[in-house]
Amino acid sequence: MPFRDYQITSPYGYRTDPFTGQRSFHDGIDLVKGHRSPIEAFVGGKVLYAGTGVSGTGVGGYGNVVVIQDKNRRAHVYAHLDSVSVKKGQTVQRGTIIGRQGATGTRVTGSHLHYEVRRKSSPSLGWVNDPQARTFNPTKYVTNYFPVEQVDGGNVYVVKAGDTLSKIALAHKTTVDALVKLNNIKDKNKIVVGQRIKLSGQTLYLPKTASSWRVYPTNVAPVKGNEKGFLNPKKFGGLQYTVLAKPQANVVTIQTSDFGKVNIYVHPSTGAVIK
Ligand SMILES: [Zn+2]
Repeated sequence: MPFRDYQITSPYGYRTDPFTGQRSFHDGIDLVKGHRSPIEAFVGGKVLYAGTGVSGTGVGGYGNVVVIQDKNRRAHVYAHLDSVSVKKGQTVQRGTIIGRQGATGTRVTGSHLHYEVRRKSSPSLGWVNDPQARTFNPTKYVTNYFPVEQVDGGNVYVVKAGDTLSKIALAHKTTVDALVKLNNIKDKNKIVVGQRIKLSGQTLYLPKTASSWRVYPTNVAPVKGNEKGFLNPKKFGGLQYTVLAKPQANVVTIQTSDFGKVNIYVHPSTGAVIK
């Protein structure tokens, strides 16, 4: 969900118009964070309009409004802002604060962000007199704007809608703590769509010739007698793990499905490979 910091007070699509009581098409999504809360760009691009929406521009009546053109030349409209903090012509990144939530403009019932994605950015900032034909569903558009991609040999994951750090950690056999540390993440509950998460510095490969490999609890010495269990790489045609830590020479910490987080002895003579 690209709008995880917000409460959705009115979705995109047909609704009963709050002013006329008639069925009408809502051309954007209404989001609430808090009056005067900072509003960050959901998608980066070039600022086409910043300031009071003047009649005839394509954003008349929108109050203090920011319009950003993305790389597909779609226009992202942030309306009813209390204040605007970017300038026309400026390039902004996803996450740049563009203004503050407000209640400016006409047809406003209370402080909220009206966010709209227009199919075109010109003429008139993509305005045509058909709310459905001129816009996309913003939730779908933003979600699809940041596809899942694996780069750097699968070592970087790009956050998609609905992801949490624990979900990502589980899928990549690592831990939330390791991801937080590796990526200098300040708030582990706050990751955003499109964010690149480094999964690991290195991967441990256990050869398929080995059928019994000792693993140890992380809080005791990795010596015979202290085993937590045994891995069987042979059974799986070899095993591979994300290296979470290197607590001492030739010992690394890995996350296993059978024994949880464990230490394992990986001196080169064992046949283990780390790369
Ligand atoms: Zn709205």
